[in-house]
Amino acid sequence: MDNPIQTDVLIIGAGPVGLFAVFELGLLNLNCHVIDILDKPGGQCAQLYPEKPIYDIPAYPVITGQDLTENLLKQVKPFSPVLHYEQLASKIEKKDDGNWLVETDKGLIFDVKAVVIAAGGGSFEPKKPNIPDLDKYSKSISYSIDKVDRFKDKDIVILGGGDSALDWTLQLYDTAKSLTLVHRRDKFRGAPATVEKVMNLRENGKIQFHVGQVNEIIGNNGKLSAVKCLKSDETINLPCDILMPFFGLTMSLGPLDKWGIDLSDERVVVNTETFETNIPGIYAVGDINIYPGKLKLILSGFHETALMAHAVFKRVNPDERLTLQYTTTSSSLQKKLLSQ
Ligand SMILES: Cc1cc2nc3c(=O)[nH]c(=O)nc-3n(C[C@H](O)[C@H](O)[C@H](O)COP(=O)(O)OP(=O)(O)OC[C@H]3O[C@@H](n4cnc5c(N)ncnc54)[C@H](O)[C@@H]3O)c2cc1C
Repeated sequence: MDNPIQTDVLIIGAGPVGLFAVFELGLLNLNCHVIDILDKPGGQCAQLYPEKPIYDIPAYPVITGQDLTENLLKQVKPFSPVLHYEQLASKIEKKDDGNWLVETDKGLIFDVKAVVIAAGGGSFEPKKPNIPDLDKYSKSISYSIDKVDRFKDKDIVILGGGDSALDWTLQLYDTAKSLTLVHRRDKFRGAPATVEKVMNLRENGKIQFHVGQVNEIIGNNGKLSAVKCLKSDETINLPCDILMPFFGLTMSLGPLDKWGIDLSDERVVVNTETFETNIPGIYAVGDINIYPGKLKLILSGFHETALMAHAVFKRVNPDERLTLQYTTTSSSLQKKLLSQ
């Protein structure tokens, strides 16, 4: 492998937890490069629910996925991380000096003292419904929402009965020209408060709801105009400019599962004192890891990064004593944080 990029730590995944890992490592003077397969930072928050409100980030009564991402980018700025997008971590090799060489699918090579896997559920892809010719209409089909404005004055059909389908129904019904929710049964799997709000919209005629399955799409030159919905006793046409199927996500670890790391249920097993994997020098934080009591929440991932950073520091600087410093009282930390 030629001309590797040398730095202290390579973080795989620029989701919220990977970004906060930059901050915690930066506080301990550890420099980071970050890679992500996607073309932008923010992981699930930016990709799947950028405009949706999150209510359980400490000290933010409410913040959208996009704003959380932007705030994290601001917060890590003093540490000047280098972010590389559209790079899939594919190969890893241990060097004789104890460092790791990590290679991406596009040929970038990193020579680092530690690797932090913050890859969420791995590379995630929405599950597609089994409808003929779906791919021909890809521009009229949406599995996430980047800009709510795109849905203005459109006939929207949302498929599914889980949280995502219901949440997007609540988010879009007053922007859309019409919104129809289609689910195969009259029971929903969403949070009770959300189900109640959707039921109210249905009762007040703000949305249409059908028990059934969409089995055909109608349109021209890749542009949707309607979908056919098969109900128990009839098939009806529903006007549709944008079809939004929410049938969950398939997550795939991709090349990471060939790195010899202990996995359980497709997630990386870690020691909860250090967030190190079974391979010394490789750590895992955020949704990608698993341990007893793990909760796949952003705040759990944030907590994990602080413990991981202390463990990485000790590995990289075995002879240095590490004492916990508060950002409120440490003048050296403040100098660093205020440097930009
Ligand atoms: C609809 C929805 C609503 C949610 N609401 C909340 C909520 O209200 N509160 C809450 O706490 N949590 C919520 N979550 C969960 C939250 O989004 C996750 O816990 C959080 O995103 C995990 O962050 P992460 O950084 O670990 O992983 P992710 O956000 O998944 O980011 C991982 C990143 O790693 C990249 N990646 C993966 N594999 C590789 C590879 N091999 N090479 C390079 N890059 C790679 C991915 O492209 C991705 O960008 C919600 C999730 C969803 C889907």
